[in-house]
Amino acid sequence: MLKRVKEKFDLHPERLIADTAYGTGPMLGWLVERKINPHIPVFDKSGRSNGTWSRADFEWDAENDQYICPEGQELKQFRRNYSDPNRRPTGQGRTKYRALKLTCQACPSKAKCCPNADARSITREEHEDARQVARDIAKTKQYDISMKLRKKVEMLFAHLKRILGLGRLRLRGPCGANDEFLLAATAQNLRKLAKIFPAPQQTRKA
Ligand code: SF4
Repeated sequence: MLKRVKEKFDLHPERLIADTAYGTGPMLGWLVERKINPHIPVFDKSGRSNGTWSRADFEWDAENDQYICPEGQELKQFRRNYSDPNRRPTGQGRTKYRALKLTCQACPSKAKCCPNADARSITREEHEDARQVARDIAKTKQYDISMKLRKKVEMLFAHLKRILGLGRLRLRGPCGANDEFLLAATAQNLRKLAKIFPAPQQTRKA
């Protein structure tokens, strides 16, 4: 759809508003790559239900390619010094960062962090940078406005479906669908106009 809009109208959106279904890593990565700000809630399953610290409680240190745990310790992908840098892990795709077993064993917060493991590990998903871009956007005022705009549009579709009965189309083919949606949208706009400019009240003659 973005490609078609670009080709037909030469429009390139600065931001794209959508719901969580579009908040997956590959989708966010695709958008960020094209310099489109994703105003989309991130689809994230890294939260923990047992009350222990989740990935969000660990700070990402991009410069040193590591996570820092709430106790200030480093979680790394690898600790070996590779004489040949080409042999070390590329950091591409899904990667795992681990704390040192000795550090975690002596940590006062181990019960809150990794009660059932020798040491804590964190999985970093592919497109995590793009996911972080979306998370940072979600903290802005502009994002709150975007979410309100999204609800406005969704309410119109809900109205089309539930009140105007467009759950199923009566006419067949793309032209039929186009005609039905055009008429329905016209009806919606007339309804809006009637609210903005209500008809003058007629006074009854005695
Ligand atoms: S258990 Fe390990 S990773 Fe977790 S807070 Fe303690 S030192 Fe950090």
